[in-house]
Amino acid sequence: MTKHIFVTGGVVSSLGKGLTSASIGMLLEQRGLTVRMQKLDPYINVDPGTMSPYQHGEVYVLDDGSETDLDLGHYERFTNSVLTRDANYTTGQIYLKVIEKERRGEFLGKTVQVIPHITNEIKDCISRLATDDVDVVITEIGGTVGDIESQPFLEAIRQFALDVGKENCLYIHLTLVPYLKAAGELKTKPTQHSVGLLRQIGIQPDILICRTERSISDEDRQKIALFCNTPFEAVIEERDKDFSIYEVPLSLVDHQLDDLIVRRLNLSAKELNLDNWHDLLHRLRNPECEINIAVVGKYAEHRDAYKSIYEAIDHAGICNRAQIRVGRIQSEEISREGPERILSGYDGILVPGGFGERGTEGKVEAIRWARERGIPFFGICLGLQCAVIEFARNVANLKDSNSTEFDKDTQHPVICLLDEQKNITDMGGTMRLGAQMATLTPGSKVQNAYEATTVSERHRHRYEFNNVYRQQFEAHGMTIAGTSPDGALVEAIELVDHPWFVAVQYHPEFQSKPTKAHPLFDGFVAAAVERRNKRDTNVVEPHIANETSTTDEFSIE
Ligand code: GLN
Repeated sequence: MTKHIFVTGGVVSSLGKGLTSASIGMLLEQRGLTVRMQKLDPYINVDPGTMSPYQHGEVYVLDDGSETDLDLGHYERFTNSVLTRDANYTTGQIYLKVIEKERRGEFLGKTVQVIPHITNEIKDCISRLATDDVDVVITEIGGTVGDIESQPFLEAIRQFALDVGKENCLYIHLTLVPYLKAAGELKTKPTQHSVGLLRQIGIQPDILICRTERSISDEDRQKIALFCNTPFEAVIEERDKDFSIYEVPLSLVDHQLDDLIVRRLNLSAKELNLDNWHDLLHRLRNPECEINIAVVGKYAEHRDAYKSIYEAIDHAGICNRAQIRVGRIQSEEISREGPERILSGYDGILVPGGFGERGTEGKVEAIRWARERGIPFFGICLGLQCAVIEFARNVANLKDSNSTEFDKDTQHPVICLLDEQKNITDMGGTMRLGAQMATLTPGSKVQNAYEATTVSERHRHRYEFNNVYRQQFEAHGMTIAGTSPDGALVEAIELVDHPWFVAVQYHPEFQSKPTKAHPLFDGFVAAAVERRNKRDTNVVEPHIANETSTTDEFSIE
């Protein structure tokens, strides 16, 4: 019988519910259990694919092409849980399914209502993951308890225990225990209120995970236990991490969370083995060098916009024993101030994916800077497209080159739309999406990095390298390092006379893990480390205005 864990959040959003859920999944896997993870999002968009990165952060793409919430990235980085489109449902998807059934006449004669029709649909989405081979399904409910739009989800998970038996379900509530300077103490009242709201709808949390900046005294834990009707041992402290998000699971183990879950759900689990996790934290804590990487994107100020990219850079830092300072650079700034002022002192430059014309000229300038100075460069999706435009204009002498995404009438459409994309009018879910195979060119840097000739990588784009220019570019020193298996689509390019100038049409960042960095990020960072070791020690360190740190998101201070 598959067991279910439901994770809800209270008091405020941004408490790190996704990271906590992922950490729980990881701990249960390290105890030998098979885990599936899922996020239910209360917003009405059918998926986050058409939401602005300002609103929602990055869109995380799965193998099957579903465009999902960025928390699923945490799930994949922390666990081996197989994620498919069943791993992320929104209110929009749930209603769409119910309305389609209604149109087909499946409820003929009945009034279609939130209870039971919407709640049944939600319960079906949860049950779908509970296959025979799965020990535990972890379902995270997005939003905060008390939100109007979360109500149907909370009602559905309440009913779920009635359907499958209380002993097979565990409710974990993540809450905030703030420190009030004026009073000089931690306050438990917001937690009491948030649990009160849950109990009003019939959910008694079994475990409370209390996010806090400071250690919670036993006295405060007793108080929370008493007011929230939860055993003392199930009031778990979860403090800010000032070093790495990868410390989160270890601190949960310090408070015996894994034991508690195993006991409560009566799971037969092995002893915990966290050797690989300790090893990665040891490497993080003991770097052998420090390098600076510039990520030149459209949304520099927003740290969630390129979340998986920052994570993948971190992973490559772990395997190269390098502490990486990442500068988030707005590409328009490069157009305004020139690349020298902004990019001097960086050991590597990465241009990530993106949509729309704004900022692309600054990216092209950054790429030129990297190419001409032999600075390691890594282009991803739009980053490849900008690298092709830069190469066309400045190496192949095709002055008016562009992508037809930015200039429909360009004289040299070196990046253009595929015929099958030309007549598409719907924006949602209509790109080239999900895992596709690529064949790599023997002897190329890309092929050497992977140590493989065919790879599967995730895609999310409409525009493609225009094959009309292929031979011309090759004649000027560009290597086509990877194509689709039929050779029709360019998947990777690189430059022969450059230490590391690699760009790919797909998104390698979605398959990088802290315990196993992606080979191309590994190669890029290794090249940056090499450059650093060789470079003039008098070079001025860049002023990193928007330095990113993956611990930011696990801090409530
Ligand atoms: N806008 C480009 C395209 O649609 C690149 C997309 C991306 O970087 N994800 O092809």
